[in-house]
Amino acid sequence: MKKLALHWQILLGMVLGVVVALVLNNFSWGSQMIGDWIKPFGTIFINALKLIAVPLILASLIKGVSDLKDISSLSKMGLRTISTYVITTVIAVSIGLMVVNVIKPGNSISEGTRNELVESYGGEAQKRQEEAHQQKEAGPLQALVDIVPDNIIGASSNNRNMLQVIFFAIFFGIGLILIPESSSKPVKDFFDGFNEVILKMIDLIMLAAPYGVFALLAALVVEAPSADLFAALGMYALSVLIGLLLMIGVYLLLVWVFTKKTPSFFLNGMAPAQLLAFSTSSSAATLPVTMERVEEHLGVKKEVTSFVLPIGATINMDGTSLYQAVAAVFIAQAFGMDLSFGTQLGIIATATLASIGSAAVPGAGMVMLVIVLAQAGIPEAGLALIFAVDRPLDMCRTVVNVTGDAAVSMMVAKAQGKLGEPHVRDWDDNYPHK
Ligand code: ASP
Repeated sequence: MKKLALHWQILLGMVLGVVVALVLNNFSWGSQMIGDWIKPFGTIFINALKLIAVPLILASLIKGVSDLKDISSLSKMGLRTISTYVITTVIAVSIGLMVVNVIKPGNSISEGTRNELVESYGGEAQKRQEEAHQQKEAGPLQALVDIVPDNIIGASSNNRNMLQVIFFAIFFGIGLILIPESSSKPVKDFFDGFNEVILKMIDLIMLAAPYGVFALLAALVVEAPSADLFAALGMYALSVLIGLLLMIGVYLLLVWVFTKKTPSFFLNGMAPAQLLAFSTSSSAATLPVTMERVEEHLGVKKEVTSFVLPIGATINMDGTSLYQAVAAVFIAQAFGMDLSFGTQLGIIATATLASIGSAAVPGAGMVMLVIVLAQAGIPEAGLALIFAVDRPLDMCRTVVNVTGDAAVSMMVAKAQGKLGEPHVRDWDDNYPHK
């Protein structure tokens, strides 16, 4: 029998997870049993993916940078990558602002609902505010200081420090380019082999993906808030979703215009990574799979994926910035505030910066939203309004974050002459999509 393609297996796992949770939820012991016996497998799956992130970045980025042969092509690619990332983020925020100004979801919130939401979620909102304020107290150059670790072992011990690991890997790669070949060769060969091992580990983890997402989705269903709140926030959620869909359309267009690759080629290649982004709500956890898909299924050469994707996972979050723009204006509307054109332009700037500063983990976008709200003079307590639907929207915006990284890596690869044909590794027998 022909094996089901990986993305169908994952999708099946997701659907079954939801169905099983809905059925078990009807029993008094149902949610406890899901929490005790199903959810842990989801956590194990995410942990396994995260476990791979730091070694993968180290191995593939060191190899990728040292393969570039000279520093000037590295700086050219760096400049291209960062500028494309900033442009797509500005497009995303603008789309968000356009949608929320047209739909005006905040006007559909009655005062009663508003007060109810503030009361139910005020405590949670407060926690996010405190987290954000800690980050805000730092000086203007703190973000730059944070990129340079003072200890690489320390930096590697926390997935939130991904930029520090990236910095070390690029620095190490540059060192490798600059030393004589006789000394660099053994080091490169080591990282080549190391990289292959990590890729194999990703293959093995992906064998468990359908079961992992089953557990993740089942756990999410039992933890979901009441349907009434969902309904009240329906227009807001719809605005975010429309914006995110438009953004996916923008990527497909960009990829088609710049690389002549069709939307179906792109989406087929990316589907497993997108489904995983949806299930895990974390671009960082999805990174290993994104890298593998973009390289093997979209044909982007390793020198580009190893550089563009880890950086993208940490700083390019178009879905997050779009959501921040919609959420900020929605909260302002719900509080009866009229935002001037100037304030909205300010939101473009702060949401772009805030998404760069957001960690690639679940819920991070909401913490940074506090900064966007403060800058625009919107009541921060308004966070409580959007709390109830944040998790499902987080899942959707993470899909866009990951898709954006892949689209940009294709464009950069094309510009660098590093876009080839897809090639699934042939020794890769037990990979599920074969
Ligand atoms: N969960 C998102 C990500 O990891 C970040 C966010 O928007 O909260 O990409």
